[in-house]
Amino acid sequence: MAGFYDNFLDDTHRAIRANAKKFADKEIAPHAYDWEEAGIFDRALYARAAKAGVLGIGFPEDVGGEGGGALHTLMNIEGMMQGGSTGVTVGLGSLGIALPAIVRSENQDLIDRFVRPTLRGEMIASLAVTEPNTGSDVAGVRTRAVREGDTYIVDGAKMFITSGTRADLLVTLCRTGENPHGGLSFLAIPSDTPGVHCEAPLRKTGWWASDTASLHFEGVRVPAKNLIGPEGSGFYAVMQNFQMERLALAGYGYVTAEIAYEHAKQYAKDREAFGRPIGKFQVIRHKLVEMATQVTTAKTLAYQVAAAIDRGEMPITEVSMAKNVCADAAMSVTYDAVQIFGGMGYMRENYVERLSRDARLLHIGGGTTEIMKEIISRNIL
Ligand SMILES: Cc1cc2nc3c(=O)[nH]c(=O)nc-3n(C[C@H](O)[C@H](O)[C@H](O)COP(=O)(O)OP(=O)(O)OC[C@H]3O[C@@H](n4cnc5c(N)ncnc54)[C@H](O)[C@@H]3O)c2cc1C
Repeated sequence: MAGFYDNFLDDTHRAIRANAKKFADKEIAPHAYDWEEAGIFDRALYARAAKAGVLGIGFPEDVGGEGGGALHTLMNIEGMMQGGSTGVTVGLGSLGIALPAIVRSENQDLIDRFVRPTLRGEMIASLAVTEPNTGSDVAGVRTRAVREGDTYIVDGAKMFITSGTRADLLVTLCRTGENPHGGLSFLAIPSDTPGVHCEAPLRKTGWWASDTASLHFEGVRVPAKNLIGPEGSGFYAVMQNFQMERLALAGYGYVTAEIAYEHAKQYAKDREAFGRPIGKFQVIRHKLVEMATQVTTAKTLAYQVAAAIDRGEMPITEVSMAKNVCADAAMSVTYDAVQIFGGMGYMRENYVERLSRDARLLHIGGGTTEIMKEIISRNIL
């Protein structure tokens, strides 16, 4: 398939993927197993990632990022995932969903205090939207921010927050008014503000090396200058955020499928049963054909959507389709890859085993498969 994707890629895309792979090979791969088992990775990795130029891909250079667009972001994910840990990649990547609302607000004070240090790898940033009682229904957010003079007093709870157990910055969606959609606002809340509490990291099916938090806010006093964008603009900001988050999750989907397929293909050549490589059995060969077809289909759609975004379009329907197609590919291909590995596919030191667990989240995070279908149906009917 060499060259098949060339019409999408130029030298900058290839350079970003190669650079991310170099970083992942050196800084992630030697530790991937231990960090996955520990449920956390070395905090110093943020600074190393920033120095290597893999942290700020997709963020403008004038806010401290590396520049690049949607397709560059996918290339970065492709390279980083070669390190052997989805958890580390998504953990480092939580800034990718936390910072855009601040960047879009063009508030130089917030950009200087939060965006630049995060992109330098000095701070960890999380996006806190989901709550114990509401996820898909963003307009159901109850965490309340009540204005008193120059301060907001925040009370409530957030759930499933990636990197949240050690984030320095919580970009938190709060209810500032009664209107379900127009009454939501984002606040930049430093996690060391009195009244911010974090419970023990949540234990998950996959993404082990990325910590996931349950947070509580009790009378948390946040300066009004930490309001991101105009009051009441939070729901719109979440919806804008979702497009790139969903494209990135589509990226995780096809990359997960592709890596599992490549590992399984190699194993089918190497592993012998009944006196021949298992790849010589037609049932295994055809399984690999199905896997290759799903990878190609998913990846092509994700590239196409990313290229459209980079042309300035906002293909909301196709972003949702890509997320679902890529999540399906990840689930199906990792299932078959585990099968091809047999018993070795069930062992925790095997990246394919890890990927088969990591894949499950792709149908849930960033908007579930059912919500994607609701969006698509609204746009096609
Ligand atoms: C590992 C992990 C990391 C995460 N990281 C973050 C993070 O960093 N920040 C953050 O804010 N959130 C995060 N989330 C939360 C994630 O975005 C939500 O879990 C997701 O949006 C689903 O919300 P929910 O869990 O409340 O499910 P619910 O919304 O309660 O949905 C439950 C079920 O009902 C279905 N459903 C709901 N509404 C409809 C409908 N209208 N039509 C049809 N079916 C429907 C859903 O599809 C699902 O199957 C994370 C979650 C996980 C598991």
